[in-house]
Amino acid sequence: MKKANFIYKTALPLFLFITTTMAAHAHGPQKEIKNLDVIQKYSALMKGIENSKNADEFDGYYHQLSDLFDKPGSKSSAAKLCSHLNSLSIGELKYLEDAIQSSSSFADDCKELILAKVAFSNSWSTDALELSIQTIKKIPFEEREVPEMTVKPDGTIRPLFSGNLKDKEIMLTFDDGPSAATPYILDALKAAGVKAAFFHVGKRVVSDKSDGPSQKKLKEERKSILKRILAEGHILANHSYSHTNAMGSKNLKGNLTKDYFMSEFVGGHLSLYRGAGYVDPFFRFPNGDQNNVIAREVRDAGVKIFHWTLDTEDWRFNAKELSIAQRNRSVLDTLVNGFKSYKNGIMLMHDINMHSAEALPGILNYLANNGYKVVLMKPKNRNVSSPSYLPVISEATNYLWKNHLDDADVYPPSPDDAYKYRSRIDFDLMFGR
Ligand SMILES: [Zn+2]
Repeated sequence: MKKANFIYKTALPLFLFITTTMAAHAHGPQKEIKNLDVIQKYSALMKGIENSKNADEFDGYYHQLSDLFDKPGSKSSAAKLCSHLNSLSIGELKYLEDAIQSSSSFADDCKELILAKVAFSNSWSTDALELSIQTIKKIPFEEREVPEMTVKPDGTIRPLFSGNLKDKEIMLTFDDGPSAATPYILDALKAAGVKAAFFHVGKRVVSDKSDGPSQKKLKEERKSILKRILAEGHILANHSYSHTNAMGSKNLKGNLTKDYFMSEFVGGHLSLYRGAGYVDPFFRFPNGDQNNVIAREVRDAGVKIFHWTLDTEDWRFNAKELSIAQRNRSVLDTLVNGFKSYKNGIMLMHDINMHSAEALPGILNYLANNGYKVVLMKPKNRNVSSPSYLPVISEATNYLWKNHLDDADVYPPSPDDAYKYRSRIDFDLMFGR
């Protein structure tokens, strides 16, 4: 299934990754699927998502699918949903993990069973993975200052596609974590002697008002992964608060407002900051779906926007379809195919699935064997021990508090500090004053 547009390609597996509360703002035109039982509806929506011809259709199906998880159904529909989830592969369940955790649509025993299955999958591949990490060869590595972004004649900010990379140079990036797969990816990078950029999702590390005790505990564990990323010299950067799929410019013309987008941008940065004590001033729009109004604010806040040129499509696979060797081969083939169009580039992978961690050793060895160099673009004067949180002054922070986050978890260290880091973000415009 080859889709022309990267939005659908990358958005597809992330459909339920989005937050429940923020998603409620994002209703676009919908093709509504009615009067089916829950599993038929689920399947019809999945099909709709896969075959969406445009972002509006995608959004419509997507939000109906989120609703299936958000609203408590009848006892029998909950049971059907449970048995259907049980039939999904681990790869699919991984993307649903957070949604399942915070959903009230399931009986607790069903929830526990499914989450246990996901947890088991983490231990299941550990041995083979550790073994393959031991085979990784060293790759030449260099750190380099990130270049400026350029602006097109029509005023559009051009994100960094391949930055200042030369031929046979590659920057490694991993999106959507942190997760149980991240430590294995860090081990593999260490074995190759290279460093990468991690574009992570704020909601995965800070507590949300809907989180129960186990979700809170999980998020505490994820914070230690962020700290390890920084301690080992990698870039830790923002990939939005909730990985909303509604970031695109078209939505600013609809019923979505600028404060919604800014809360995604600011909330992601601030959440990672609270989790790790530092965030690099880099940003990647979820699904690469750039919104130029927000892009300008991001740029004016001194933050560089990253896109990619080499997509490994590593999210595609699920356990029931292919063997591990076949999956790894396919991810590598996709990358190698990308090298036919690009002599260098920013590679996109995802550290939310164990199968991405499994594919990485093969990719690193391919780079080592074929004369590639890994380059990490870094912010100018990077200093991990100095604060780098964004200027989230009262209004934006209040917005986040009221709508999404536990106040104890997300607040700048002091109003004075916050003021010091204030950027040119236009809060008046943002809040319609
Ligand atoms: Zn993403």
